[in-house]
Amino acid sequence: MKVLVINAGSSSLKYQLLDMDTERLLAKGLAERIGIEGSVVTHEPVGKDKVKFERPMETHKEALDIIMRALVNEQYGVIKSLNEIDAVGHRTVHGAESFASSVVINDEVIEKMEECSVLAPLHNPANLIGIRACQEVLPNVPMVGVFDTAFHQTMPKEAYIYPLPYELYEKYRIRKYGFHGTSHRYVSLRAAELLNQDLNQLKLISCHLGNGASIAAIRYGKSIDTSMGLTPLAGLAMGTRCGDIDPEIMIFLRQHGYTTEELDHIMNKESGILGISGISSDFRDVEQAADTGNKRAQLALDVFHYRVRTTIGAYVAAMDGVDGIIFTAGLGENSASTRSAICSGLTYLGIKLNAEKNSKRGEEMVISTADSATNVMVIPTNEELMIARDTVELVQGK
Ligand code: AMP
Repeated sequence: MKVLVINAGSSSLKYQLLDMDTERLLAKGLAERIGIEGSVVTHEPVGKDKVKFERPMETHKEALDIIMRALVNEQYGVIKSLNEIDAVGHRTVHGAESFASSVVINDEVIEKMEECSVLAPLHNPANLIGIRACQEVLPNVPMVGVFDTAFHQTMPKEAYIYPLPYELYEKYRIRKYGFHGTSHRYVSLRAAELLNQDLNQLKLISCHLGNGASIAAIRYGKSIDTSMGLTPLAGLAMGTRCGDIDPEIMIFLRQHGYTTEELDHIMNKESGILGISGISSDFRDVEQAADTGNKRAQLALDVFHYRVRTTIGAYVAAMDGVDGIIFTAGLGENSASTRSAICSGLTYLGIKLNAEKNSKRGEEMVISTADSATNVMVIPTNEELMIARDTVELVQGK
């Protein structure tokens, strides 16, 4: 069974085509600058040279038309006909309380997703555009939505209710939802396999550290707390996002003349590692500057590490212990110095890193020593594979 995985943003569309009989990737690619000057599709067929199509694309449908032609092209295609695509799995961001697991997309699901759009105005409408474009291009192919929030729907009320007037939850569904759920779910499943232990007996803390960053407490296979909130702005310091701050700061700044739009921009685009360092939102640049003695760059990293370490501590408390800590996503998978800085403050968990293993990049492995009281692992995330697996399960079970 071949599954096309789609991740649609407002002006971009990422795709992967997977052969799910072998879980092998056949091709992947990215359409960028849709509706903007300079639109381009980069298509990467496995085992063949990558190709770029630079041409105007006004809509996601036009981008998908180019992608479909690339997939069946004689030279750089990977299938003979579009009929070989058995199902499409969509990455969908906010499912609010409507979706606790992945779903086959139908009119009712689309309607509910539209209702959730107020909670994710940047993401859900873009996901819906991607879904509608796919429905036009592949009209009779079943489609599945895999929500970033769904995995965290198992959180208990004490973890997801904000200490605000309860009516705000009842009226507007303001509560913690959490994100990166597909990634946290994937790496927790892999961690149990790597440790050769039953997931239902493990207490895991999964650190998804990329440009966006979140941590999840996963007890016996279920998320019981996570650092992002109603939106992906909460929790850790991130590339450009501030994470948790005293909410009164925003009221203070409003009184100093900042508009709501300016405050939104500051918190989402000008804060985090970029905001503190003044250098970049990319950890590589900030690490490099810190290495050459830049104090604000070092401070940005210290703040980031401190927040990760204290959030891990909170989740050890939430689960009354931890068996394994997982590092994933761009920074978690690749930065040995980040992992060692975070773990250096976790000696109370009996953590000892194996320096040689920790120095590896992007390889799935246990990086703690054999006598470390808590396992530490690097597990490259694979959200697309998780989406494709859910898609197969739901489409076959129909
Ligand atoms: P993601 O959002 O998962 O793609 O992660 C992007 C982040 O990972 C960026 O801030 C990168 O700087 C960071 N990253 C990727 N590779 C490395 C590396 N080798 N060392 C440090 N940071 C890295």
